[in-house]
Amino acid sequence: MMKNIRKNAIKTIGRISDNGPPIVSINGILGFREYTRYENSWFYIGRSPISRCIVIMQDDWVEIHNVCVNEPEDRSKGHGTAMIADIRQAFPNHHIWVNTAECSRAFWEKMVDRGHIDSIENEYWWPCWDTTCTTCHPTRTTGKRREGAW
Ligand SMILES: [Zn+2]
Repeated sequence: MMKNIRKNAIKTIGRISDNGPPIVSINGILGFREYTRYENSWFYIGRSPISRCIVIMQDDWVEIHNVCVNEPEDRSKGHGTAMIADIRQAFPNHHIWVNTAECSRAFWEKMVDRGHIDSIENEYWWPCWDTTCTTCHPTRTTGKRREGAW
């Protein structure tokens, strides 16, 4: 479902250093640092250093990428949810979507239920990069795994 393209109120509010990329607010949500390599992409640092993610806007779609709550002890405490709710506030009229690793699927399903995002786009199994994650990387019945397998 495509929605109409709407202009976001993007305002430059500062820079970390003189030559650093601009930090902008989007619809009043502070802390989007321009990802200068790509157009319409930002690191969301509004909840740094606890959590971060990358936001990529394309027309009336917004992809959330690389979501990370940095410290293990900060996980499962609502920090990720709060950050995704920020992104929704910044892009209230965009279709927000993610591709999710298998171990994060339950989290994203909750985000869809709550309306913080609109859809999970990968219905297929997608393992995360952490080869110690037993959800994404179940031990094979033989007990053998390829070295560096993902
Ligand atoms: Zn995983």
